[in-house]
Amino acid sequence: MALQRAEWTDVAACRGIESLLFFPPDVMESKEVRSRRERQAKQLCADCHVREECLSSALTQRESYGIWGGLTEIERRALLRR
Ligand code: SF4
Repeated sequence: MALQRAEWTDVAACRGIESLLFFPPDVMESKEVRSRRERQAKQLCADCHVREECLSSALTQRESYGIWGGLTEIERRALLRR
């Protein structure tokens, strides 16, 4: 049985983690800094027990920004085009 959003977010590996790790800052971010930030976020997602629910929700909601379910917005868009 699939978890409801209120349930899976309760056990998310990123719960309580600074959201700046998952979303680009308002100011310009260098390629190197972005790459490091995304790598750290994806490491958290890789060990997350609700990764599938998170990615599914992001795809359904067409989340435009940030890393969800271990994928960046560009990677999610590519997945949706398949
Ligand atoms: S998959 Fe990543 S973004 Fe989604 S809930 Fe887990 S840690 Fe957070």
